[in-house]
Amino acid sequence: MQTAAPSFIELRDVRKIYKTAAGDFPALRGIDLSFERGEFTIIMGKSGSGKSTLINMITGIDRPTGGEVLVEGQAVHTMSEDALARWRGRSIGVIFQFFQLIPTLTILENVVLPMDFCGKIAPADRLPRAMHLLERVRIPEQAHKLPSTLSGGQQQRAAIARALANDPPLLVGDEPTGNLDRHTAVEMFDLFESLRGEGKTILIVTHDRELSARTRRVIHLLDGSIEKDHPLASPSPLPENQGWAMPLCEDRANGKARLQ
Ligand code: ADP
Ligand code: MG
Repeated sequence: MQTAAPSFIELRDVRKIYKTAAGDFPALRGIDLSFERGEFTIIMGKSGSGKSTLINMITGIDRPTGGEVLVEGQAVHTMSEDALARWRGRSIGVIFQFFQLIPTLTILENVVLPMDFCGKIAPADRLPRAMHLLERVRIPEQAHKLPSTLSGGQQQRAAIARALANDPPLLVGDEPTGNLDRHTAVEMFDLFESLRGEGKTILIVTHDRELSARTRRVIHLLDGSIEKDHPLASPSPLPENQGWAMPLCEDRANGKARLQ
């Protein structure tokens, strides 16, 4: 559909050159991409093709050498560090391959922390919301444990709950299932699919062809350029609903997410 409004995410001629001892290394060579709200997109490509660099441009974790990155109309590439941190806290949930939970905090505290930083969720709602999110990712019984006592799959569930803490419109994962067993990886995808169904925009880097076959759009990177950008007509069907659906009741008018 053609509209004058910008897409939810727009990358215009995005370039990234890393300065190395061996000279300049172009990791992204002029990427033009756009993503609409509610899209679930997979990014693939062999190691070193620029997937993480691309993701880091969108999340503002790193800045492009050239070009523009717009998310919800905001120019991410020109924001100050402070503005970037505030914007990221409200707008993006990031999930990493190695979870990156804070080891000295309990699982529940890890999920509450982004709410404390961001201030979007009212203080009285933070603990119940964190518990609700842990229920949603099916580890409520782990709430008061330290991350190191959980399995990899449980830690990734906690990391997803943390990513959802401030109810961001965009979820980004850099190989979030790369360190999980098959069964857990499939469950994580079921959860992403369910979140997409609630209107979240989802961008996931994976090497897993079977999982990628379940989404409508797969982008292949090759040496810092887009090799292919496939809209899939008929993604593989999802298994039966596995009970992920437990929607949060949104009340955007007053900027709060209420729990059902
Ligand atoms: P991918 O995630 O697809 O494996 P990356 O985006 O991490 O690829 O890296 C793309 C290329 O850029 C690789 O050749 C990598 O070695 C290089 N690269 C990534 N980060 C840096 C950096 N900080 N300094 C120099 N080169 C880097
Ligand atoms: Mg990478």
